[in-house]
Amino acid sequence: MTVRTGSCLCGARAYEIDGDIDGVWVCHCSLCRKASGSNGNWILIVPRDRFRWMKGEHHAVTFALRPTYTITRCKTCGTPLPAELDARNVYVTAGTLDVPLGKGVRTHLFCASRADWDSDEPDARFFDERAG
Ligand SMILES: [Zn+2]
Ligand SMILES: [Zn+2]
Repeated sequence: MTVRTGSCLCGARAYEIDGDIDGVWVCHCSLCRKASGSNGNWILIVPRDRFRWMKGEHHAVTFALRPTYTITRCKTCGTPLPAELDARNVYVTAGTLDVPLGKGVRTHLFCASRADWDSDEPDARFFDERAG
């Protein structure tokens, strides 16, 4: 069985996921854009029995922004971390994966809220490393 690893930026927290995931969910709602500081939250939905913390299980701070909306971050580096408030699933922030997923985006949510800057200009530039 495939085991994938993930961690926060400072390495205080690390996790493993067993088995394959069928793709990424992206939420473009205004809350997810603010919370991520980006174009939304990119999430893997992983059944609880296939997710485990390897390090720093309690090294996190959770912000309850609304009754139905919380975010969890590493206490040291502030990386958005997998959320565990659901009884069945863990919502893993895709950017914390250390290894390839082998899948792309499967579902976009709240597309009507998508930021108008969330697209490439026709002359957008692409660099494999930093712009030179
Ligand atoms: Zn960290
Ligand atoms: Zn959202």
